[in-house]
Amino acid sequence: HPTLSKASRLIREVPDFPEPGVLFRDISPLLADGEALSTVVTALGEGHEFDVVAGVEARGFLVGAAVAQAYGTGVVGLRKPGKLPEVADRIDYALEYGTASLELAADTISAGQRVLVVDDVLATGGTLNAACELLGRAGAKVSAAAVVLELTALGGRDRVLGADVHALLAV
Ligand code: IMP
Repeated sequence: HPTLSKASRLIREVPDFPEPGVLFRDISPLLADGEALSTVVTALGEGHEFDVVAGVEARGFLVGAAVAQAYGTGVVGLRKPGKLPEVADRIDYALEYGTASLELAADTISAGQRVLVVDDVLATGGTLNAACELLGRAGAKVSAAAVVLELTALGGRDRVLGADVHALLAV
């Protein structure tokens, strides 16, 4: 796909971020480019049936809201702890070092809704798996988990249970 390959050239590689030895992929320049954003947003929603989009904090908010607008659905942010005034549910999950949590706001997801989960990058898969589990506990049916970029060497898609992972780009 020619426009997707243009988008892929707008992903920056940042060595030693957030810690030494890690090669961070930054999609900020891609998001800042109108044509690339449009291509990515359309492609993320393509082939899925969904009633609402769930975006993972924080870059998943940007992409997720755009996908929701493009496909005429609402959007729900899955948030890091301590941000929401009313929490419907919370999930804690293990990272390589330490733990993280995601929270779902009250009165957002209803049982039976089909949800497209969106994030920027799939790394170890812990975050997307937690997102899918949190939504599943709310009674949602996760249509798919769609990401812009998959870091294949980490094998993260095998950790995402209960949802098909769709990555637009892979390295
Ligand atoms: P995972 O849980 O290890 O799959 O990490 C995925 C989460 O961390 C996503 O929310 C990403 O936004 C973030 N993340 C991990 N690695 C990168 C990266 O190289 N670039 C941008 N975000 C990353």
